[in-house]
Amino acid sequence: MKIIFLGSGGSVPTKDRGLPAVLIEYLNELFLFDCGEGTLRQIMICSSKRNGKNKGKNEKINFMNINKIFITHFHADHIAGLIGIMNTMNFLERRSNMEIYGGKGISNLIKNLPVPKDAMQFIKIYEISEGQVVEGKGYKIIPFKTQHISESFGFVFEEKEKRKFLKEKAIALGIPEGKLYSKLQNGESINLDGKIIGPEDVLSESIKGRKIVYTGDTMPCENTIKFADDCDILIHDSTYSNIDIDKISDHGHTTALQAAEIAKKANAKSLFLIHISQRYANSKILEDEARKVFENSCVVEDFMSVQISAPPENKISVN
Ligand SMILES: [Zn+2]
Ligand SMILES: [Zn+2]
Repeated sequence: MKIIFLGSGGSVPTKDRGLPAVLIEYLNELFLFDCGEGTLRQIMICSSKRNGKNKGKNEKINFMNINKIFITHFHADHIAGLIGIMNTMNFLERRSNMEIYGGKGISNLIKNLPVPKDAMQFIKIYEISEGQVVEGKGYKIIPFKTQHISESFGFVFEEKEKRKFLKEKAIALGIPEGKLYSKLQNGESINLDGKIIGPEDVLSESIKGRKIVYTGDTMPCENTIKFADDCDILIHDSTYSNIDIDKISDHGHTTALQAAEIAKKANAKSLFLIHISQRYANSKILEDEARKVFENSCVVEDFMSVQISAPPENKISVN
């Protein structure tokens, strides 16, 4: 499971930061969360050899394989990139469905974008509400309400619980390798020479899956703490430093310090600060501020990739 940050800035793009776009790669599926202006170009840069420095080690991303896009809210810095992606997919004759999820009104919004009519043939639009789970192979995605100046959602990306097949137990029970293994793995009982063997005889206890939470734009809110409970990675709005707290009351955002407090209360394992205002050319100030409260904090940079190893280790590595 991997996260690739395509845009780490907020509201205004800078030479170092694109606008919000977070890509999650899981079992060969690509999920995009928010799609700020220039997201497609960010994907191209990320995939190009020219991006050979320490950040984003030439992640090969085939944007034609993005199957699901989740939009936190309709501010332009989170949606303007949709036009480019839809237009280019259509130009390259995409025909397989691409699903776009967002709050009430997303359908009208997408239908009125200046893209060719043909593009609308492969786009499927879904209006979401809190707790309405989007499920797929091995994962579920859960929207939750955040607190911004317009209706806004965060998303939980959670791997489903798994039970490991304990081969040594199967061997000890004399089960021949092959079809019977698959049956047990699929939760079925088998009859072995008149003896009934159930999945519980050869499967481990349930192992909790990996969990990533992305807030989009939000003020600090209780709902994030609730939905981010025990997550591996919390990607939280951190538009400002707490030094500038007086300037943020009207904008519905969070400071690095406040994001750290949320991460701590949610018992998150790590915090990634995103939606960084253009006023912080040196974002170290934000990282230092967050680390005073929550040690495992990191400011997101464009093209940074973060990997979480399989449970139960859930080891996080940043590139
Ligand atoms: Zn924003
Ligand atoms: Zn916003």
